[in-house]
Amino acid sequence: MKVYNTLTRTKEDFIPQEEGKVKMYVCGPTVYNYIHIGNARPYVVFDTVRRYLEYKGYDVTYIQNFTDVDDKIIKKANEEHSSMEEVSNRFIKEAFTDADGLNVKRATHHPRVTEEMDNIIEMIKTLVENGYAYENDGTVYYNTKQFPEYGKLSKKNLDELIEGASERVDKDDAKKNPTDFVLWKPYKPGEPKWSSPWGEGRPGWHIECSVMAKKYLGDTIDIHAGGEDLIFPHHENEIAQSEAANGKPFSKYWLHNGFIMIDNEKMSKSAGNFFTVREISEQFPYEVIRFFILNGHYRSPLNFSRELMQACQNGLERIKNCNTDLQHYIDNCHDSKLSQAETKLLDELEKYRTQFETAMDDDFNTADAVSAIYELVRFINKNLKENISKEFAEREMELLGKLCGVLGINKEKEKANDEDTAVIEELLAKRTEAKKNKNFAEADAIRDKLTEMGVTIKDTRQGVQWFRG
Ligand code: AMP
Ligand code: ZN
Repeated sequence: MKVYNTLTRTKEDFIPQEEGKVKMYVCGPTVYNYIHIGNARPYVVFDTVRRYLEYKGYDVTYIQNFTDVDDKIIKKANEEHSSMEEVSNRFIKEAFTDADGLNVKRATHHPRVTEEMDNIIEMIKTLVENGYAYENDGTVYYNTKQFPEYGKLSKKNLDELIEGASERVDKDDAKKNPTDFVLWKPYKPGEPKWSSPWGEGRPGWHIECSVMAKKYLGDTIDIHAGGEDLIFPHHENEIAQSEAANGKPFSKYWLHNGFIMIDNEKMSKSAGNFFTVREISEQFPYEVIRFFILNGHYRSPLNFSRELMQACQNGLERIKNCNTDLQHYIDNCHDSKLSQAETKLLDELEKYRTQFETAMDDDFNTADAVSAIYELVRFINKNLKENISKEFAEREMELLGKLCGVLGINKEKEKANDEDTAVIEELLAKRTEAKKNKNFAEADAIRDKLTEMGVTIKDTRQGVQWFRG
């Protein structure tokens, strides 16, 4: 299996430190608003990476934090005359609602910055003691000149950065170098505060991930992931902190997703050109959002549009229809054992599994993995014949379910609730009876009624099939 490592800018063989185990950290959202579909991309993409690793037999420990101390959260709390806790608790809850809707598995732990303060202070103390950080009037800075490898992830040259003092580097006279960044900032009225050896205050953003990764995964992890805007300065700074404090490499592989774009611009909260997952979910089911994200390769930019969402919804529908048809044949087939012709077709069936795995082994190419599923669907549809055996149909269904499961997609159509189902089945029985009595007018009337209820029916030689939509 190959993964593209931002650290080396190459696709490398994936070999975790410990055989059969993967330690993975994904930077989580800052919780002051609903997540937008851009934020949903790392959620869905790295959840799929995790699912594929699990499919391959790895035991994955997956950590995703919540940044619950931040200027933007404090600002929102002040605007609402509420507290930082109230704002972050509310949006953590909402983020879980969206993540559950998107079928993103819960992380092994979801640590929050406010609950990790002692360890944060400890790591800053270590950095100060080892000469990697300095204090100036209650602010602690990381001294980037002390870490010769600074810039190794983003491929930025420290001297050039200092010369040019790029727009992403704060200008601040209290710093020794323009690239130095804040580890601890002093208390300002109206802000939350914690006691520390440098006075009351709160931590900078970057230190939290170094600390949480160390606490839950150890000094060296296998995969560190997030959106590509985090490469610099966030991940560059995480490396500088963790490697200076622990004296070990921080992460073997660095994975970064590309942006979700809108009208060829990055979707972002600050630019205001965003759609929240919640508002999109009012027009398309959550799983269509997930499927849309997986229809592109995770490192490529992905343009959000209603047309593409619609195309993804249609594609998903094709997969679900195939599954429904297959189920119908399984429920009604006469032969249970494989025929000779089917035994031969099993090899062809296996080709789709291989095609899917080859795509995923190539740096998690979900776009090609989705194509493999479409080809499998075509194969299944082609072989849905009256004399299909139960075993063959079940093997097909098992493979379809397995591959969809790796992508976190449910192959089943949404089932109507039980009460509805009882009503629908009663109407269907009446319609069958009417047809038997050659009362076609009544049979048609019942069909119209079912259509009105959003139920589609299909007459097949094995009986009546029905589904919603
Ligand atoms: P934030 O809440 O802004 O810290 O972002 C949370 C995660 O979403 C980070 O991994 C970001 O890199 C990622 N992200 C933000 N905007 C986009 C976007 N438009 N497309 C893809 N990923 C994004
Ligand atoms: Zn982080």
